[in-house]
Order: sequence, then structure tokens, then C-alpha cells
Amino acid sequence: MTAPLPPFRVLRPQAIEAAVAAGAAPGGARYLAGGTDLLVNLRRGLLAPAVLIDLGGIAEFADIRCTDQRTRIGSGVTLARLATDPAVGARHPALRAAAVAVAAPGHRNLATIGGNLCADTRCIYYNQSEWWRRANGICLKSGGEICHVAPEGKRCHAAFSGDLAPALIALDAVAEIAGPGGRRRIACADLYAEDGRAHLQLGGADLITAIELPAEPVRSGYLKERVRQAFDFPLAGVAVALATETGRLSMLRVAITGTNSRPFLVENTAALLGRAVDEELLGQLDKLVQKQVRPMRTTLTPAGYRRIVAAALARRLLASLGASAAASVA
Ligand SMILES: Cc1cc2nc3c(=O)[nH]c(=O)nc-3n(C[C@H](O)[C@H](O)[C@H](O)COP(=O)(O)OP(=O)(O)OC[C@H]3O[C@@H](n4cnc5c(N)ncnc54)[C@H](O)[C@@H]3O)c2cc1C
Ligand code: SF4
Repeated sequence: MTAPLPPFRVLRPQAIEAAVAAGAAPGGARYLAGGTDLLVNLRRGLLAPAVLIDLGGIAEFADIRCTDQRTRIGSGVTLARLATDPAVGARHPALRAAAVAVAAPGHRNLATIGGNLCADTRCIYYNQSEWWRRANGICLKSGGEICHVAPEGKRCHAAFSGDLAPALIALDAVAEIAGPGGRRRIACADLYAEDGRAHLQLGGADLITAIELPAEPVRSGYLKERVRQAFDFPLAGVAVALATETGRLSMLRVAITGTNSRPFLVENTAALLGRAVDEELLGQLDKLVQKQVRPMRTTLTPAGYRRIVAAALARRLLASLGASAAASVA
């Protein structure tokens, strides 16, 4: 059962400064990009800001610029465009693969890179209509007293399930932010916190204006597993970026989504550098991933399965990227 949208005013600023100023509107404000996450959540009564700030009027948000040093992608670039832009595909295969893997074509035509990075965390006890949540007991994330997933604890374990973040983290991307205090840059890896209620390290009026990626070529890819292959959020999603020298790993970044309240860079992969991608190394990566993911009972799919899936995807992706690197020097 869907409820009507709550009342709100819509502003359509033409400049970044005006958008940030509107972000401090009384009664609460939210940026509206493609709306494919936000409008669903509004309809479910998960939030009720007084003002929506439509970002569609800010022309520079739609730019993609490629130089010898970097790729700069405006935060309003749609996932459909990311999935088909030849330069993005050639330079950053993981980003292209992640964009193609988000939802369905209709969503990707509207959904943006900025909105994907800032999408809310998800849980089967939260992404429900208001009457369902009331009938089953309002949980911490909706302002209640208890977490149904981990009733002993005091934190929300809702999972971040955006597909683009792990690709951008693995590719060492940086987000440009405009906020009330001016402009700043944050590594995409540092945008998030392990808290399902407050997973973004951004203030309410902070606006992602663009993403920058180093242009230096690295091999990269993204794989996700989902219940419905046609379109679905990831049970787990893994991005890998690597470089090799004389058949040995000289750089390796592995990032994961769907299992924790934040997408994160797998730690301690430095121990795998200087080695060839073989079964022993893949087994070590499998262990690192299984140790670091923290899936909880936030989806209908068991947490233990999501842990194994994350490790299997990491293993599979590293094996295939390693094999293509080896083939290119043979
Ligand atoms: C049926 C369905 C299936 C889906 N499947 C997937 C999936 O498989 N993978 C996946 O990743 N997502 C999925 N989604 C979620 C959603 O479609 C995507 O995450 C999408 O990329 C969100 O982008 P958007 O531009 O529509 O964001 P919006 O809905 O407009 O915004 C999302 C959030 O980001 C904030 N925001 C937007 N732009 C900015 C900005 N520039 N700076 C700061 N904050 C900003 C908004 O205020 C809001 O809080 C699915 C959604 C639906 C309805
Ligand atoms: S993890 Fe707990 S607090 Fe968070 S949304 Fe789920 S039930 Fe609610």
C-alpha cells in the first residue's frame, strides 16, 4: 500500500551556491537528483523534508571532462550516460560495469552518480510502508527504540547498497563537495561511516558537485550478486582495480558494497603485492574479505551467504583481471 507524497516545496536553483544556501531551508531540505531513491523513500514516509532542491537546473553537473591527468564527472551525470560514454568505458571499466548493474534502464536514465553515492542504507525492517513499520514496531532508524536485526545493540546495521561507490573507491576517486563552509575534496573511500542511520560523512547542506578519477590506466572490474538478475540491489558487490609489473601485482585495491553500512576498501591487501595471481593468493584474498565484511540480517538472504558471496566475487574478479593482465604480456 503506497501513501501519498508528503507536502513539500520544490526549488530549482541554477547555481551551486544557490543550491547550498537552499540546503539550510527551515523544516529540512533534501537535494533531488534523479529521485529514484529519494521519491520512493518519501512515498514510504521514511522522511518528510519541507523543501526539495531539484539539481537539474545546474548545467555544469551534466559535464564529463577527460584530460591526460584525470576524468571529471559532474554529479548530475546519469548512470545511462556513464554506461555508454566511450571514454569512461575505456578508462574506467569498473565504473562502467557498476553503472550498467544499477536497477533497470528506466532508473538509469534518471539516476545520477551523485544520487547513487548518497543513496540511503537499506534494511527489510525499514524499506517498508509506514503501516508495515508501525505494525511490526518502529525501529531505531525510523526513530524507535530497538533494532530488530541486533536487538542487543544501539546501532543500526542497515546496509549501504549503492553499486557505484565500490568502483569509485577501488579507482581512487575523489568527491568535490560544496557546503556552507566552502568547497573541499574528500576521497570517496572517506565519504562513509559504519552507521546505518548516519552513513555519510556529509553535512545536511553538503552537495557533491563532481567526482574526479586519476586517468592513469589500471585494470578494473565490478561484479555483483543479486536475487533477481533483471534488476536488484546487490547482496554483495565487489570492485577490483589492479596493476601488474612483470606478471606480479604492483597495485591492488578491492572495495565492497552491500554487506556493511558503508562501502569500504578491503584492508591489508599490501601483503598480496609483488606476487603472481595464483590459487594461494586468491585464497588469501578470500580470507581477507570474509574477515572484513559484516553482513547482518538486513535482507531476506542469510548474512552468512552474503559473506561467502562477497569473497567468491572478489576471488573471481581478481582471477579474471589477473589472467587478462598475464595474457597481455604473453
Ligand atoms: C526498483 C529499484 C531498484 C534499484 N536498484 C538499485 C541497484 O541495483 N543498485 C543501486 O545502486 N541502486 C539501486 N536503486 C536505487 C537508486 O535508483 C540508485 O541508487 C540511484 O543511483 C540514485 O540516484 P538518484 O539520482 O535517483 O538519487 P536521488 O533519489 O535523487 O537521491 C538519493 C539521495 O542522494 C541525495 N543526493 C542526490 N544528489 C546529491 C548530490 N549531488 N550531493 C549530495 N546529495 C545528493 C538526495 O538528497 C537523496 O538523499 C534502485 C531503486 C529502485 C526504485
Ligand atoms: S538494522 Fe535495525 S535499526 Fe537499522 S533499519 Fe534494520 S531494524 Fe532498523
